[in-house]
Formats: sequence, C-alpha cells, structure tokens
Amino acid sequence: MTFKDAVQFHGHSCPGLAMGFRVAETALEALDFDRSTDEELVAIVENNSCAVDAIQVVCGCTFGKGNLQFRDYGKQVYTFIKRPSGEAVRIAVKWKPRPENEQEKTMWQRYARGERTEDVLRVVHARKAKKTKDILVAGAEELFDCRRFTADQPETARIYPSLRCNQCGEKVMEPKARTKNNEVFCIPCYEAHLNP
Ligand SMILES: [Zn+2]
Ligand SMILES: [Zn+2]
Repeated sequence: MTFKDAVQFHGHSCPGLAMGFRVAETALEALDFDRSTDEELVAIVENNSCAVDAIQVVCGCTFGKGNLQFRDYGKQVYTFIKRPSGEAVRIAVKWKPRPENEQEKTMWQRYARGERTEDVLRVVHARKAKKTKDILVAGAEELFDCRRFTADQPETARIYPSLRCNQCGEKVMEPKARTKNNEVFCIPCYEAHLNP
C-alpha cells in the first residue's frame, strides 16, 4: 500500500493522512506483521482524524471488521496489537512542524477568520503540502515515541442476538438494549422515553 492508495480512499492529501500513513508503516515494521499469515492486527486509535483513514487502508484495521477500536481521547496516540501473540506497540506522535513564516502566520489567521480568497488559499494550501511532504520524509524517530509491550488479548468481534425494541419495533443487539419495567428499548427510544 502506498500513500497514493491512502489518498484515494481518504479523498485528499493532507498532513493528518500523511501522519497516519507513517504511523501505519511504523507499526507494521515494529511488529513485523505479515498479512499473509493467520495473524491479525488490532488498532486502537485515540482520535478520529484524517490519520485513521490511512491506518485502515495500510493496516487493514477497519471499523466494520472490529479490529479498529476508537477511544475518544483526542490524542495522537495509536496502539497496535498482534493476535494471537499479543506483541504490541504504542505510537505517540511527538513531531513538531517547522515554524510558520510571517506570511504563513498572517494568512493562517485570515483563513481561521473565514477568509477564502485566492491569496489566502494559495498560502494555506502550500503550507499544508509542505507539511505533508515533511511528514512523509521525516525519520520515524523524529515523528514518534514508540513503546513495545505485550498486551492482554483484546476481545475478538462478537456476534450478539437481536432483540426487538418495544417502541419503534426495530432490532437492536442485546448488549445495547435497555430495559424499563420489563420492556425492551433501543437506546434512542429509551432516551426519548426518559426525556419526553
Ligand atoms: Zn484529510
Ligand atoms: Zn426503538
């Protein structure tokens, strides 16, 4: 998988995607992960930014397969665990972009205030492209703090029975169902019921 593949999936090239791409590469290398065996890789991501799209493409860790777990901490931290061995690596982004020059600073302020003129966009886009390139060519040790460890085994994706919500009649998987007075509800109906 190349950065181009990630761009195609994500829809644009950006610094966040580039960082995710480097995280993914670094993880695969650190864990010596080989897609051709029965091993599986689980990714735990602590943000839901552009970076995560690159991780899905490059590592094959996806939300739908259940081997991508999202912890909403707003941190640029990514943990990868190889199953069944439990070999793991935690990758924390420490990279600092090169400082903005005066023009970039002014244009960024104007952009942040909502200005979308050609002048502003040209400088902002150029700055982003430069950042993307810097990330793609930087050494992994410049970008990340990596720590290897052996993890407890994360649970595999499970299949749960479905129940039917008493209010809307739609199906809901058992662990997500709520009950009140022996009646089963889906979460939206339960919440609407509590706060009518
Ligand atoms: Zn993006
Ligand atoms: Zn319902």
